[in-house]
Amino acid sequence: MSADERAWMVERQLRRRGIEDERVLAAMGRVPRELFLPPELRDAAYGDAALPIGAGQTISQPYMVALICEQLALHGGERVLDVGTGSGYQAAVLAELADEVHTIERIPELAERARDGLAAAGYADRVHLHLGDGTRGVRECAPFAAIAVAAAALEAPPVLYDQLEPRGRLVVPVGGSDGQWLEVVVRTPEGPAALRTVPCRFVPLVVGR
Ligand code: SAH
Repeated sequence: MSADERAWMVERQLRRRGIEDERVLAAMGRVPRELFLPPELRDAAYGDAALPIGAGQTISQPYMVALICEQLALHGGERVLDVGTGSGYQAAVLAELADEVHTIERIPELAERARDGLAAAGYADRVHLHLGDGTRGVRECAPFAAIAVAAAALEAPPVLYDQLEPRGRLVVPVGGSDGQWLEVVVRTPEGPAALRTVPCRFVPLVVGR
């Protein structure tokens, strides 16, 4: 049942809206999103929406998860960082696309639940969960080929840029409550090359703990 709903989500919400990376589409077709939701919301797992996961936070809309993954341009084999674990869903999708995933969350209650969801879905040994302030990255595990941020900052955090490999990519929602853009920043020998892609709406990235 959920496999059918998931296949439908991939076609209607992702492919039809322009997601083209076949690896991303396949990954989204494999990860059981219902396992990252509170039990009472599981029936809504394959709807076209962000959903509440507690502590005032949300699991991102499937399309946004797919778009961020596509913009990270992963080929497999990379080490990546996911800032703002939330439910753990994005981290699980990244685990399908890369070799080693680090994810960091500042709210202990969410980190605990994400740990359970990741274990239930079979990603416990492929995703390393850290508790702390993700605006500082995870220095001891850097550099990363790609960094995804699931909360909006006023500008792309320079500390995260510094933890990228050469040619590494950072995807981050940038802007305040009056509007945000998904920004892709590539690390180049000449410095950050940034491109604003689509308008978006994320919870704020909180600086400090
Ligand atoms: N990727 C998540 C989306 C979670 S929403 C998912 O798929 O479910 C964004 C998350 O970022 C929230 O859980 C919030 O607590 C977290 N967050 C905000 N600021 C943070 C920070 N400085 N460090 C780590 N996590 C942060």
